[in-house]
Amino acid sequence: MTIEELIAAVQAELGVQVDGKAGPQTWRAIYQRIVKQGPAATPPAGSTRADMPPVDPRSEKTIATLLPEVRPMARALVQKAAAMGIRIKVISGFRTYEEQAALYAQGRTAPGNIVTNARPGYSNHNFGIAFDIGVFEGNSYLPESPKYNAIGALGIDIGLEWGGSWKTIVDAPHFQLRPEWAADMAEKQMLAELRARRENESAVYA
Ligand SMILES: [Zn+2]
Repeated sequence: MTIEELIAAVQAELGVQVDGKAGPQTWRAIYQRIVKQGPAATPPAGSTRADMPPVDPRSEKTIATLLPEVRPMARALVQKAAAMGIRIKVISGFRTYEEQAALYAQGRTAPGNIVTNARPGYSNHNFGIAFDIGVFEGNSYLPESPKYNAIGALGIDIGLEWGGSWKTIVDAPHFQLRPEWAADMAEKQMLAELRARRENESAVYA
């Protein structure tokens, strides 16, 4: 079953419009199916987060670049993934405007392939609210794997926004913690507000 078929099946079951494009409600139901039914997905009663496997040093180093509000969620994603037998690492976090400019230049005015369409201030990574994960098997990084969809459902379940559920540019490794004030905002609008807050030195999650 492809992820699209799974989405359509779950939508039909929920009685919502079957369009094969999942919204938060559908993703939650998908999570129930592919995560909660898996072996070892449910920790034994009475277990706490301390029982979970520790987060690897590379992920911790990246997580430390994120805003404090995002850190526990990134950690929870790594630990919950491990509990369901999927090894992920947080491989990209906060990027300065300078780092974003260098990335944007790649494939344009600098050698390499184009890796982003976001100029400085136009990526959620520039504000410490977003991170990218990589799925690993042993020591090998898997740039593509159906496991990204399972992690996506897991992320949505803990309250993160997942790039894999975006309608325009699907970005399966990407997760972000949307501020409450941006709940009904388009991405573009949210980024404008984030730039303004940076300019005014005001907090993102306030
Ligand atoms: Zn990203």
